[in-house]
Amino acid sequence: MSAPSHRRSPSRRLLALAGVAALAAAGLAVVPLTTGAGAAPADLAHSVLPAGDGWAALAAGTSGGQAADSAHTFTVSTRAQLAKALKAGPAGAPRIIQVKGVIDANTDDAGKALGCADYAAGTGYSLSAYLKAYAPATWGRGKVPSGTQEKARAAAQQRQAARVVLAVPSRTTIVGVPGSGAAITGGSLQVKNADNVIVRNLGLTDTRDCFPQWDPTDGSTGNWNSAYDALTVRGSTHVWADHNTFGDGPHPDRTNPSYFGREYQVHDGALDITNASDLVTVEYNRFADHDKTMLIGSSDKDTKLRVTLHHNVFQGIVQRAPLARVGRIHLYDNYYATAPLDGYTHSYSINSRAGAQVVAQNNYWALSGDRKASQLLSGDGTGSVAGSGNLVDGTVTDLVAAYNAAHSSKKIKTTVNWTPELTAGLEPAAGLPAKLGRKAGAGVLTATGGTP
Ligand code: CA
Ligand code: CA
Repeated sequence: MSAPSHRRSPSRRLLALAGVAALAAAGLAVVPLTTGAGAAPADLAHSVLPAGDGWAALAAGTSGGQAADSAHTFTVSTRAQLAKALKAGPAGAPRIIQVKGVIDANTDDAGKALGCADYAAGTGYSLSAYLKAYAPATWGRGKVPSGTQEKARAAAQQRQAARVVLAVPSRTTIVGVPGSGAAITGGSLQVKNADNVIVRNLGLTDTRDCFPQWDPTDGSTGNWNSAYDALTVRGSTHVWADHNTFGDGPHPDRTNPSYFGREYQVHDGALDITNASDLVTVEYNRFADHDKTMLIGSSDKDTKLRVTLHHNVFQGIVQRAPLARVGRIHLYDNYYATAPLDGYTHSYSINSRAGAQVVAQNNYWALSGDRKASQLLSGDGTGSVAGSGNLVDGTVTDLVAAYNAAHSSKKIKTTVNWTPELTAGLEPAAGLPAKLGRKAGAGVLTATGGTP
């Protein structure tokens, strides 16, 4: 890895850290000096979000760990190495973590694979006992599970969480080493109350919860709920997720059993952006084989949530691509294929609710014969979807008009209270299927941070 161009003296370093703390206390983005907007990146690990590239480019932009010194520049190929690099002090130090090859998050510190039975061992949890304790015929449907088996389930879940949840601090770049098939399987990267984070060129797949919780009060029929998103952005600002691949990998939902008449869902979100997160750009990712793909906002009372999604591929996705609440959300040049894939059948693509101000522009849908243009949106009647230039099988289509014509109530509003300005790479939709087939997802970026 390249060394920093010069070393700071201790006094300059302390001064710089004090400045960082002051800026952080003021809630401002902390961005190190860079080679300048638009300059060619020296290499993938040190590259920063280009100027104008979506909401994460606002103000000081997003540079992640670009200013990391050599002591905070890591190459990791095991879970233990990754966890150590994420925790290396001092807090707030910029860090670059290069992932080489596949890291299985469900492993112990010696690298031994851990299964659900390993996490449950010693907790007293067993699925059969849990099912017996909370069967609707005996437990009823009026209250969430509590008592011995629920405590045991929570304890087992904690043991898995201690392995698979990986907290990402401020001023961090995590990037897959080109050509290494870099991926984190079974993990949950959590960007929580952090600022200035970059995640690029990584597979983030097969994230699953060994211990779903039964909630009979969730909806009219109850639901099994799971804990882990592959990537969670929570209460965080200036986050850039670029050229990653998300999916359920070897554990598709069709292999989930059903208990109490409901799917035993082991997956949560692929990439959820919630709890007053702001200034997020999600681009050139590939989302495949997943149900609840992307929440923007976790409740109708969430705030901020300025998010840009562009040049992403959504294929074999059931719903929430995204489910948008509250925020000013720009969706441009994304590619959606609605054909069923590995048991995942399309429900809708974009849900605008809780007053969301969505601009959907120049996106492309490949519509399968089982779906209609009126089934691409969803909403609660308070969300907006503006924008033009969207194509369905190559034909310009007014998605909102198609949706509203098919619904007698909860119609989607067509005007928004803002105009997108950070629109790098905005282009007509016609070329997207071919282009994104080559350029989206992990494993495409080269060592210089570009695409072939
Ligand atoms: Ca989630
Ligand atoms: Ca499902």
